[in-house]
Amino acid sequence: MNKNPELLELAQDESIDLVRRAEHATAWLDKNLRLDRVGVKKLLDQLLPLVEAAGLRNEAAWLRFYLGWYYLDGDDFKTGLSVIETARDSFEALGDVVGGSRTSNALGFLYSMLGVFDLALDFYRMATERADQAGKPEMAGTALMNTAECLYELDEPEAALLAIERCRSDYSIAPYNITHAHHVAGLVYGRLGKLAESEKELRQAILTAKDTFTAGLDSRRVLAELLLDTGRLEEAARYIDEGLAQCLANEDRLIGIRFRLALSRLHFLQEHLDEALAEARLACTLAQELGVKKVEADAEKAAYEAWQKKGDCGEALAAFVRYTSLKDTIKGEQTSKRILGLHEDRIRREARYYESLYRQISSIGEIGQRITANLDLNVTLESIYEAVNGLLDAPTLVIALLNNAGDALDYRLIMLRGERQEPFSVPLTESSFGAWCLSNNKDILIGDVQNEYQQYFGRQPLNVISENPEKSLVYVPLRVGERVAGVFSVQSEKLQAYDKRSLETIKAIGSYLGIAVENSRLFGQIQRLATVDALTGLLNRRAISELLAEEFQKSARYKRSLSVMMVDIDFFKAVNDTYGHDGGDFVLKAVGAILKGDVRSCDFAGRFGGEEFVLVLPETGLEGGLRLAERLRRALEATEIPLGEGSSCRVTASFGLSALCSEDDSYESLLKRADLALYQSKDKGRNCVSHLDGSPDVLKAARPDNAAQDK
Ligand code: GH3
Ligand code: MG
Ligand code: MG
Repeated sequence: MNKNPELLELAQDESIDLVRRAEHATAWLDKNLRLDRVGVKKLLDQLLPLVEAAGLRNEAAWLRFYLGWYYLDGDDFKTGLSVIETARDSFEALGDVVGGSRTSNALGFLYSMLGVFDLALDFYRMATERADQAGKPEMAGTALMNTAECLYELDEPEAALLAIERCRSDYSIAPYNITHAHHVAGLVYGRLGKLAESEKELRQAILTAKDTFTAGLDSRRVLAELLLDTGRLEEAARYIDEGLAQCLANEDRLIGIRFRLALSRLHFLQEHLDEALAEARLACTLAQELGVKKVEADAEKAAYEAWQKKGDCGEALAAFVRYTSLKDTIKGEQTSKRILGLHEDRIRREARYYESLYRQISSIGEIGQRITANLDLNVTLESIYEAVNGLLDAPTLVIALLNNAGDALDYRLIMLRGERQEPFSVPLTESSFGAWCLSNNKDILIGDVQNEYQQYFGRQPLNVISENPEKSLVYVPLRVGERVAGVFSVQSEKLQAYDKRSLETIKAIGSYLGIAVENSRLFGQIQRLATVDALTGLLNRRAISELLAEEFQKSARYKRSLSVMMVDIDFFKAVNDTYGHDGGDFVLKAVGAILKGDVRSCDFAGRFGGEEFVLVLPETGLEGGLRLAERLRRALEATEIPLGEGSSCRVTASFGLSALCSEDDSYESLLKRADLALYQSKDKGRNCVSHLDGSPDVLKAARPDNAAQDK
């Protein structure tokens, strides 16, 4: 399988001069790096120690360069990194610009594999620079194309497109780069929402990659994802199957995991949620093994979406939290790796900038923690306000969320020059910066609203804008996954208060706010699930018991009255027998609605289990409790419950009541008496109200009003 076996022989021929042997070796390695991994490792193990011992620094650096690639191709990123870094240091020290370019390019590749794109960008830029110095346009083209891919990953598609255009016009394009150019152009057009162009470029990438066996693989994956997004599931499935098989055959683990994620998404779209989950979790484990946090984060996100669709909020929240904390870690790593790079002369010049950037990013991280730790956005606003103003001048700060109907922005949290304002709502159909930002999913940065607003609203007068904007402002969308959940704005009464750097800061804070919004929504869902009975919407047994315990404490301490009412539907088994379990459920819902509908807002209704309900009535003595019970009994008796298809039924219930008295030492005794009273009602023939007193005093006081009681 070796190309040029004679080169390999020459490299191993001990009778030849070591410098010549190293030259033969690099020539052979360049061709066979991916074709014969065993041979590559054997040759390097043999030759590198000899070359080093002979003090041949340049030759050693080249051999190390290939050894580094050997590790990178085997997904051993850590060893690859240290080997290539050593090689790069040697090249830089020797002034070998070709070596400098190729090692920089390799490091860029490594960091982009690890998802540290801003650092990768630095290396690719350096690789382009060195290649230009060396007069190697093909190499510069490669590095520039990689730069474009990074810019794409950093969500700067316009800049990426410029880089591709420059690459196509300024540099002669090597065959591998032609594929790569199509691939990256496909990615970029996809990001810009130009799906037809994207598809064309990707198909071109696959077509031109036919000889190089891994080059087209990632294009196939991206195309498969595009096909999924545009609903062409069958064709996508074909690409995914092929891709997975090919990754297995090539031992291409990283792209393999990405294909697996595409497979998870395919299952998700076909509503095979269990399969989607299984693939997402497998991808997660595999990504963890490889140490590729970005892919792991994507896998957690896929798991989160599947759990959410399955309706399991608890698991969804857990996956979501893992997803966001992975994203945080990635951000932190980008920063610390940049700081680590400070020993380099070139970067030292920029040290001050990076230091301030680091300080800024760590305080953004802190703000993020404040926001995400507290699930109630209302509580955190003041704290967000203070923290944001520690970073930049933000006298006016606004958080607006899309309402449930999706047709208006609720301006929920508004700080106007330090003063908290009343919330208001603006329909999306009205002109507002918020609506523009949300609908276009784009940032707004304006230094002079008076003179620049027309870019967004055309020739309309300034006063049509609903929000009453300050002189300069920034608006960023709050994204939750792919969805835009609202907008975040920082404004100032000064002109030109914000620039691109403050925009970045505000975007970073906005990304945390997006997470906080999602967290508090999920948290709300979980809280509801934990307290509400799914069938009737009343409080569940645990919630109503806790509530009763609380009310008991309060009423006992302040000597206020408190009553408890227990309600049990009569002959409910017969309802189930006649109308089936679903019919029974429907009756339960209807009874729940009657009980809830007829109580004051300070009273609480709960389903205690089966066909039994409990009402907790604060500030209500026996007299009032009995009156309410009787009213409810009659209302229920008189209600015809429709069961669909023309049939309907009526039910009655038995009621038991107790009121707080000096003898009660816990809420349980109150509940117990209500329960005993209920049994009395059943004994008396059902469809009636009974009560049980705790003490003779209460009994006496209650007697005269008992007219409505037991019939
Ligand atoms: P009584 O008048 O003595 O209260 O008679 P009953 O038939 O109402 O009481 P019993 O406790 O014998 O039966 C209660 C029935 O309620 C039995 C059970 O199948 C039914 N049940 C409990 N929970 C549910 C539910 O969530 N949905 C439906 N449809 N039925 C339920
Ligand atoms: Mg019953
Ligand atoms: Mg019962």
